[in-house]
Amino acid sequence: DIPVIAIDGPTASGKGTVAAGVAQALGWHILDSGAIYRLVALASMRREVAAGDEAALVELAGHLDIRFDVDGAWLDGECVADAIRQEAVGARASVIAALPEVRAALLARQRQFRQVPGLVADGRDMGTVVFPRAQLKVFLVAAAQARAERRYNQLKAKGISANLEDLLRDLMERDARDTGRKAAPLVPASDAMTLDSSAMTAAEVIAQVLSLYRA
Ligand code: C5P
Repeated sequence: DIPVIAIDGPTASGKGTVAAGVAQALGWHILDSGAIYRLVALASMRREVAAGDEAALVELAGHLDIRFDVDGAWLDGECVADAIRQEAVGARASVIAALPEVRAALLARQRQFRQVPGLVADGRDMGTVVFPRAQLKVFLVAAAQARAERRYNQLKAKGISANLEDLLRDLMERDARDTGRKAAPLVPASDAMTLDSSAMTAAEVIAQVLSLYRA
């Protein structure tokens, strides 16, 4: 059995950083499932598919030409690493992700990332839906204020001006949408370990996940 570590949690909880650190320490593959939803969102915006046109979105999700490498995500042969990080794309991704048929269309594609020697998968439903038999499931949480501050500092480091209040409000809206939706709502798997990273550094969370896996 090819091992999987599933890391789920709300937006800006540090999943991506932690997943990357754990994957690097173990020499495993990584799946940033949020990036896949963001790629569908970006493709739909570029092709002017409406966010509510489920049939067209399912078609798009099923035939998406995507690739990941060290530079990040590629769509139709173009590097879109920065484009998919835009707030508008994230917001559209969270609307699209509420459509059950779209989620179903992306299931097999996500499972293909499970390759030797192992996979660290991050998202919202890695432990509940995509990899229900994962060897370790972590549910990473952090206080909304702490998450907003992290995002604020990330943007500042990139020279992008942001408003902490706006970030906090957007983040709470995203949380409400991800938690309240019928299709794969954001909940910890019954066998997940919940970690609160509010007062932890990324390095501390990575070390904790590795020790849970090795235990
Ligand atoms: O994690 P990230 O912010 O990149 O994800 C973008 C959106 O995609 C999330 O707000 C969430 O609605 C959706 N998503 C999801 N299931 C996943 C990963 C992301 O529904 N496994």
